[in-house]
Amino acid sequence: HAKNEGANRYLFFNDSMNKLAVKRLQVENLIRHGLKEDYFSVFYQPKMDIVTGQLVGMEALVRFITPKKGVISPASFIPVAEETGQILEIGEVVLQKTCEDVKRWIDQGLFHGRVAVNLSAKQFMLPFLCEQIDDILQRSELPSYHLELEITEGTVMQSPKLAIDTMKKLRARGIHLAMDDFGTGYSSLAYLKQFPLNTLKIDKAFVDDMTSARGRNMVDTIVTIAHNLNLTVVAEGVETAEQLQQLKQLRCEILQGYYYSKPLSAAEFAAFLKQQKQLKPKLTAVQA
Ligand code: C2E
Ligand code: MG
Ligand code: MG
Ligand code: MG
Repeated sequence: HAKNEGANRYLFFNDSMNKLAVKRLQVENLIRHGLKEDYFSVFYQPKMDIVTGQLVGMEALVRFITPKKGVISPASFIPVAEETGQILEIGEVVLQKTCEDVKRWIDQGLFHGRVAVNLSAKQFMLPFLCEQIDDILQRSELPSYHLELEITEGTVMQSPKLAIDTMKKLRARGIHLAMDDFGTGYSSLAYLKQFPLNTLKIDKAFVDDMTSARGRNMVDTIVTIAHNLNLTVVAEGVETAEQLQQLKQLRCEILQGYYYSKPLSAAEFAAFLKQQKQLKPKLTAVQA
């Protein structure tokens, strides 16, 4: 009998679902180690005004870089961190580092816009989220109006009523709210108009689909909906001049993508900001 059980266990350990669990456990351990060793950093991707080409803000994107494994992609560790709850600690680190970096750039006269930080579902659902954000803003001495939070449809649709309450509290602090990856999750138009949002981000998948008339119509529709709701539209994953022209025609306001810049380390982004500052008067002179 015992021998049978042993055999069963052996089979169990070989099954693909269990391999996934082992992999998950490895990632979980790696994250724990990474948090202890401070291997999480923040990169910044510029957001540009589509008409003037000037910087209006940036998105903070977490990077997990270990000496042994190099860069570990968010796509592979965020879902695990979300499952284990480690995303709460990662999210706090990202917010803290972002606020410190942005405060420094503001003090140096390099920046005066908003930085957008991604919030995971678990983070957004924290009962003390607002207090945590208040603490971080206070510690870093960053005024709340420099902060924007990006949340997805999936996050707010888990509990729309509760989400609206939290969103109102954040807005009352002057924090802006963006709906990220719009169109990729379950969205309810009935709710969309009730959410106190400032910005709607069109997912890269829609930007990529603009090669077809149908795809362009889709983006046109999303922009129209957003504008009817008084939302600013950001297009993500813009890589070509052609996409830029099409999005301009469709009256999208802000672009984010490799066309302008990949996400940059804090040092690289500071250099980018200095360059921006010098370019500004030139751009005005050319346009005048
Ligand atoms: P997202 O919030 O939609 O971020 C945009 C992603 O698109 C980023 O990937 C960015 O590097 C990538 N991207 C931007 N422009 C282009 C482009 O022109 N071409 C291509 N191919 N990609 C582009 P990244 O940094 O790998 O992040 C992936 C996702 O991980 C993010 O999607 C977000 O959902 C999540 N994430 C990143 N940082 C954080 C964080 O600090 N907290 C949480 N909760 N999630 C995060
Ligand atoms: Mg985002
Ligand atoms: Mg996005
Ligand atoms: Mg996306």
